[in-house]
Amino acid sequence: MKFSIIYKITLIFACLAVFILAVSFLYLDTNRLKDILIAVFIFTILAAIVMSFIVSLFILGPIKEMTNVTRLIAKGDLTKRIASSRNDEIGDLARSFNNMSEQIRLRIAEALTNNSKMEAVFQSMFEGVIVIDEHRKILLMNKAIKDLLGIKEDVLGKTPLEVIRNNNIQEIVEKVLAIKKPLDAKEVGLFSPLDKVLLVNAVPVGYEGKPAGAVLVFHDITKLRQLENIRREFIANISHELRTPAANIKGYAETLLDGALNDKENAVEFLKIIYSESGRLEKLITDILGLSKIESEKFKMSLKKHSIKNIAETVSAEFGPRIKEKDLQMKINIADNLPEVFVDDYYIRQVFSNLIDNAIKYTDPKGSINITAHDKGKLVQVDVLDTGIGIPEQDIPRIFERFYRVDKARSRELGGTGLGLAIVKHIVQAHNGEVWVTSTAGKGSTFSFTIPKG
Ligand code: ADP
Repeated sequence: MKFSIIYKITLIFACLAVFILAVSFLYLDTNRLKDILIAVFIFTILAAIVMSFIVSLFILGPIKEMTNVTRLIAKGDLTKRIASSRNDEIGDLARSFNNMSEQIRLRIAEALTNNSKMEAVFQSMFEGVIVIDEHRKILLMNKAIKDLLGIKEDVLGKTPLEVIRNNNIQEIVEKVLAIKKPLDAKEVGLFSPLDKVLLVNAVPVGYEGKPAGAVLVFHDITKLRQLENIRREFIANISHELRTPAANIKGYAETLLDGALNDKENAVEFLKIIYSESGRLEKLITDILGLSKIESEKFKMSLKKHSIKNIAETVSAEFGPRIKEKDLQMKINIADNLPEVFVDDYYIRQVFSNLIDNAIKYTDPKGSINITAHDKGKLVQVDVLDTGIGIPEQDIPRIFERFYRVDKARSRELGGTGLGLAIVKHIVQAHNGEVWVTSTAGKGSTFSFTIPKG
């Protein structure tokens, strides 16, 4: 049971009065003295009541207000203050209390600002971060790792294994919590449903010297590994492509040196082979260098206005003898008033040259090749159509890859390097255009590309 101070003071005074009264009645016998004591008793009671009111007015009022304000502050309303302009101890206490409330408000505001700054940094980090507690439960998981792994559900309180479903990551968690030391970065491959390679760093975190969980930092190195694979494959392909003509040249040169030089008829045949193989070698090296130049970051083009009809005509004229040799029909259907294009003519000539060269190579004698171009808004679309062997459907998606050929032997025999279409793709893309093919095996192909208008 709670007794207010007023009751306590009144009670003390009342007890004191009753005590005095009782003593007086026991030991005093004069009526007059008894009357005086009764008066003293009544006065003491009244004094107690008056004192209680004074205490209530000057002390309990402010204390009650302080209690109310403290309750409101505890509930989160940090703006509440005690209104007191008194110039005594109660006034000092109220001012100290207000000052303390203001300090708390400032500290909390500072903590919240720091917290939101931390949160902003944490959420905008490029690296994925997961913070776990000592029981392996997720405390924090930033946007980068959620986006990377396609996680949409609430993950707090779950274990990394439940969320990522990867044993290697769970092993890292177990290890860092067990040895309580930062681990060396470890590469982890995720397969299903996402195909990703992640580099994971794990560091234990402690609070007041005690271990309290760990922080895992994830870097997505999928692209890096893919590029490394492409580069490795490219080097393997180049070596393989260069080895064949180089081995042929060496073989025939050795045969000649071993005596075939004296066999006039064969010697000329062998020299022709050496000549053609060295030509292939030269073309391969030129194509590889050309491709790496176009792919390099320093690649710069000299863009000017050009007539696409002019370019198509001059390039196809260079193929005149081969067209005649195969008895092909070659037509250029480009309107004179087609808007000019804004291109580097050296490279666009190469695009035409590679596409026409392919059309000739992969079209049987008496077939036809048609070059058309039309206006397409901000672009001009060029189509190189042939009635050749066509491309099987399953090969179409890979046809622009370096060294990809439907029929390797046939391409080699025809002097192909497998780089022509890759060069076309890179040049067109450098002009912000697109290139694609539509083809039916046995019927023919149409290679199309877009380039910007002048
Ligand atoms: P290549 O030097 O082998 O011609 P490309 O990169 O120019 O290399 O072409 C890649 C492959 O695409 C060729 O080997 C061929 O199989 C196919 N190809 C390209 N153009 C045509 C075409 N007009 N008709 C049929 N197949 C084609």
